[in-house]
Amino acid sequence: MKTFIYDLTMERLREWVKEQGEPVFRAGQIFDWLYVKRVGAFEEMTNLPKSLRQKLEESFQFVILKEITRQVSSDGTVKLLLGLHDDHAIETVIMRHNYGNSVCVTTQVGCRIGCTFCASTLGGLKRNLTAGEIVAQVLEAQRLLDKEQERVSSIVVMGTGEPFENYDALMDFLRITIHEKGLHIGQRHITVSTSGIVPSIYRFADEQTQINLAISIHAPNDELRSKLMPVNRRYPFAEVLKALQYYYQTTGRRITFEYALIGGVNDRPEHAQELAEVLNGLDILCHVNLIPVNYVPERNYVRTSRDDIFAFLNVLQHNHINATIRREQGGDIAAACGQLRAKHMESTAR
Ligand code: SAH
Repeated sequence: MKTFIYDLTMERLREWVKEQGEPVFRAGQIFDWLYVKRVGAFEEMTNLPKSLRQKLEESFQFVILKEITRQVSSDGTVKLLLGLHDDHAIETVIMRHNYGNSVCVTTQVGCRIGCTFCASTLGGLKRNLTAGEIVAQVLEAQRLLDKEQERVSSIVVMGTGEPFENYDALMDFLRITIHEKGLHIGQRHITVSTSGIVPSIYRFADEQTQINLAISIHAPNDELRSKLMPVNRRYPFAEVLKALQYYYQTTGRRITFEYALIGGVNDRPEHAQELAEVLNGLDILCHVNLIPVNYVPERNYVRTSRDDIFAFLNVLQHNHINATIRREQGGDIAAACGQLRAKHMESTAR
């Protein structure tokens, strides 16, 4: 199979161009066609010599994402179920905010992390996506937004999969999207979320980017976190926190803690108090994002009542922890993340 052209960072594309005996500025022209003009074929790259277009054609292919389902919420959120060349399907979500449009991308087909409240992990991990398959999701979103003369202004790497277990593809994806000749998304407008893959947190810290890091914490202690997230047995709570301190010391960047509130499980005021103490003890700049758990039929968790959500928030704020409740979007379309794909897998299996 030919390599996807969107897999190539500018650096790699420059090397390839040089190998073809062409001047390196051609790489910039190619990026412009791919990410600014956003053509779908090499023959459309009309300022390149014909011979180079032919070589591109021989060496690379475009990622074709086939739209299987599109759901549009009353608040403008768009959920896409996209088919890959090998018949796997992934979800990509476009969210509309008053400050811009954000895209939530998927990094793996399925997931092996096994969080007990999550729909993305139900069928296990099928395979990693390549960098280009992640890039293509952003392009797909941009194509939809083009119709309204709008642009993708931010990216959240919070779709299906654990980005830090597909690290190299993730980093290439990020390099391509932030490149000024590429999609040119501001680093501060990109957030990567991880379940806590400790070695990758250290690696990511050392990259010294300005990209935001979010950590799915979901519990204030080791024992409860292990119950909700089996990955906590591989990378225990204390080690995750240590890695985050290193990340903060290295980058100086505020860390987001995601906390899905699950009725009667992790949503009591005692949990909030314990979380606040843990976070205050870290001496880092952080922010807690409370997410009312999305209902997943396969899991019998209940949601926290509105009053209890605010009670939890109050305990955090009382302890000087910066915290907000995640605004829910697209609630009327496909409930929890990963469910569109789960439903699709069920129906194709029949
Ligand atoms: N694997 C990465 C990326 C997924 S991000 C990670 O774990 O961070 C998606 C976020 O949604 C994570 O914080 C995840 O824990 C959370 N999530 C998963 N299932 C959920 C559900 N049913 N309700 C609310 N949040 C959920």
